[in-house]
Amino acid sequence: MKYSLQLGNIFGIKVQIHWTFLILLGWIVFSNMRAGSGAEQTMWSVLFILTIFACVTLHEFGHALAAKRFGIKTKDITLLPIGGLARLESIPEKPKEELIVAIAGPLVNILIVAALYPIVHFTSDITSSIKQLTAITSENFLFNLMFINLWLAVFNLIPAFPMDGGRVLRALLSFNMERHKATAIAARIGQLLAIGFVILGFFSNPFLIFIGLFIFLGAQAETEYTQAKSILKGFTVNDVLMKQYQTISSGETIKAAVSMLLNGQSKSFLVTDNGQAVGTLNRDEIIKALSSQGENLIIHNVMNKELLFLKAEMPLEEAWQLMQQHKTLMPVFTNDKLVGTLDTENILEFIMVKGAITKG
Ligand code: ZN
Repeated sequence: MKYSLQLGNIFGIKVQIHWTFLILLGWIVFSNMRAGSGAEQTMWSVLFILTIFACVTLHEFGHALAAKRFGIKTKDITLLPIGGLARLESIPEKPKEELIVAIAGPLVNILIVAALYPIVHFTSDITSSIKQLTAITSENFLFNLMFINLWLAVFNLIPAFPMDGGRVLRALLSFNMERHKATAIAARIGQLLAIGFVILGFFSNPFLIFIGLFIFLGAQAETEYTQAKSILKGFTVNDVLMKQYQTISSGETIKAAVSMLLNGQSKSFLVTDNGQAVGTLNRDEIIKALSSQGENLIIHNVMNKELLFLKAEMPLEEAWQLMQQHKTLMPVFTNDKLVGTLDTENILEFIMVKGAITKG
């Protein structure tokens, strides 16, 4: 993630903190000052937040280390003011593995609760203190930490995407049905809960509206993603590649690219040099170059040089996954021979057409 500060490398996983986290710390110091707390009180509040995020990090490591057992790497763990995010290279598709990976996070918080329980002092007035961060003291620190961990476990187990609970539910359903059907059911349940949160939010805590929307959109995205993947299953790049594609030489000017753009249907071109693919150029890049540096600019200087070569026999699901990360035109090869190109639009059209056929 951009604008993140690297904290270190643990178990080979990069741990970083997003800069917006500083705003959260700043806000805590500010609200303490506004409440007239002294330096010691402010320190307790800041320490409390840092400890919570240490617990969030452990939660994410729960997911990452469980995934590692199944051979899935984690790119990095990022701490955001709203929580942590472990970017796994893929989500395990076997129900048992997905269940273990999803539940490992909340399980860490439950273990922390269990560890704190015997050493926490329970007093009668302690429950009221959680409402105010400015009221954290050495006496109620551990109690509140235990309470937060309990809340983290319960909150993450809400059975709705993109919460861990949504994945747990899908995994449980997947034992008995196809994965995309299980996803659709889990997403439907999640969206019903999300609507419930939004309604509840209007009458109580407005934060619930935000959570509701977050869950609703997450469920939508997850359904579309797995639906698309199930449609692509069994096909290869060869089934959708564009055999007729337009190339432009890297020595040409932007002017030539503009005329190709205006005279044809293509919105992105493969850039070649002596017949070899060396880059890509799309409409946005052409327009940007045109407005900033004029039409005489040589294409070589503005083209996208990060080429990803696909093999025609590659499963379409894999190509699509690659495209989620690199939204460029990709040249396709069979035995080192260029046979066509593929871009996100080709795959999306394919998904639309196939989706329409299966529904109809
Ligand atoms: Zn989690």
